[in-house]
Amino acid sequence: MTKEAIKAKELSPLKRIGNFQEVTLAYGEEEALEEAKRCLQCKNPVCISGCPVEIDIKKFIYQITQEDYKGAYFTIKEKNNFASICGRICPAEYQCRKTCVLTKTGEPFASPEAINIHFLERFAGDYGIEHNLQPTVNRISNTVTLGPKPEIPKVVVVGSGPAGLCCAGELARCGIKVVIFESLHKPGGVLRYGIPIFRLPQDVLEAEIDYLKTLGVEIVTNIVIGRAKSLEELRREFSAVFLGLGAGVPYFLNIKGENLCNIYSANEFLTRVNLMGAYKFPEFHTPVNIGKKIIVIGGGNTAMDAARVALRLQKMNKKKPDVRIFYRRSEVEMPARRLEIVHAKEEGLKFEFLVQPIEFKGNSKGWLGKIKSLRCKLGELDSSGRRRPVALPGSKFNMACDMAIIAVGLGANKILTSVTRELEVDKWGDIIVNSVTMETSIKGVFAGGDIVGGEGTVIEAMSMAKKGARSIIKYLSS
Ligand code: FAD
Ligand code: SF4
Repeated sequence: MTKEAIKAKELSPLKRIGNFQEVTLAYGEEEALEEAKRCLQCKNPVCISGCPVEIDIKKFIYQITQEDYKGAYFTIKEKNNFASICGRICPAEYQCRKTCVLTKTGEPFASPEAINIHFLERFAGDYGIEHNLQPTVNRISNTVTLGPKPEIPKVVVVGSGPAGLCCAGELARCGIKVVIFESLHKPGGVLRYGIPIFRLPQDVLEAEIDYLKTLGVEIVTNIVIGRAKSLEELRREFSAVFLGLGAGVPYFLNIKGENLCNIYSANEFLTRVNLMGAYKFPEFHTPVNIGKKIIVIGGGNTAMDAARVALRLQKMNKKKPDVRIFYRRSEVEMPARRLEIVHAKEEGLKFEFLVQPIEFKGNSKGWLGKIKSLRCKLGELDSSGRRRPVALPGSKFNMACDMAIIAVGLGANKILTSVTRELEVDKWGDIIVNSVTMETSIKGVFAGGDIVGGEGTVIEAMSMAKKGARSIIKYLSS
């Protein structure tokens, strides 16, 4: 019988719910070696095709077995500039681990026998950061034939989330000058304002961004493109443009009472806590209200993150933890990473599956008091390939709560696209691109990441950004 993968150590639920310390700990050297040696070094390593950026998994794992950690780090960096980030937050159970030959067939996610590829990636990535391993730049003359214009072109990237950062890194590695314009005061996109530090510590994000700066990437913050500068101006000032605008506008339920006090969108709640330091109030001057009975609506990573942050804030504010997730399908359909669901349950979050809120009810002063909902069953498959929730007649019920967080999805931010008529968008406001080249409807303008739709994962955004960078290099050489 195949042994299960080596588990990474974790802070115990009791120890972690009163603070924002990282929950999953890194493999030590011994654990990394033991796990790496479980890899069969398959002749045809199918796990590589399970990784959207096609890291040479077999090679870097072999290098770990040889204690060549530096080699493993640079093998990953050839394909992925953010080993330490992806090693922490990639949904490996749907991707590379799912395709590892050791996973049991027929399981919806990777089974416990599959190699813990992401933990090994994190081990190698953190080794590189701890040892300050420096990148190498291929001078542009070696990689790009510039044609009649011999000067080095300058490319602008709008947005500093995983897509923008990745595209900038790929271009900078080829010696191309890149400047990133970011509307917020700190770079990182969702990695900075969405994902809590107990999953992705800020110093890891800083180190990965510093690596890009070492490659020569310049980052300008506090500038909103579409307001401070138009796309037209960028096209005049730069040789090519990459748009990595993300999907930062929250969807709401559009039900009665949704504007009562103490109903947050998960995006606002997480931004206040992660980017603006609400968890360190009063040291930081941006507190969030925190209720006694909190209901989070949604079943994705955003819902899990918001719920786990809320639970920690209750504990830190000396309130009895009481956070409940309402999700309209069943657990199997939840889009959140499996590990996050396990962690959420361990921490004491309660789950109500097959529940659809229909009204928020408030008190006379306009504060939320309860949620009216319907129970559901699963019906036919919908366009997303998941079974559609169908309300059960006569199943209405009320549940008391004094705070709700809505995490039912995010859509395109239209600040730039609404003032750039030539940029074609679809009915949701996502930019339309050629999915192979990432070209938009405007010559010299490319786009990738959540703003063009797709899976909505960090690695998928990076995969699109890499394609965009390749096309930009081709465009510059033509
Ligand atoms: P973003 O990360 O949204 O970055 C876009 C950036 O562009 C932002 O910084 C924004 O400020 C900037 N911008 C937008 N418009 C302008 C403008 N006009 N001018 C200047 N700057 C602009 N994925 C995973 O793989 N694993 C996870 O565990 C995971 N957890 C998640 C948790 C949460 C709470 C959320 C919200 C998402 C999570 N995701 C996760 C999804 C993942 O973070 C996104 O798919 C990814 O960040 C998309 O990258 P992006 O670069 O396209 O966009
Ligand atoms: Fe084979 Fe799994 Fe090792 Fe990939 S990680 S080379 S699929 S055993």
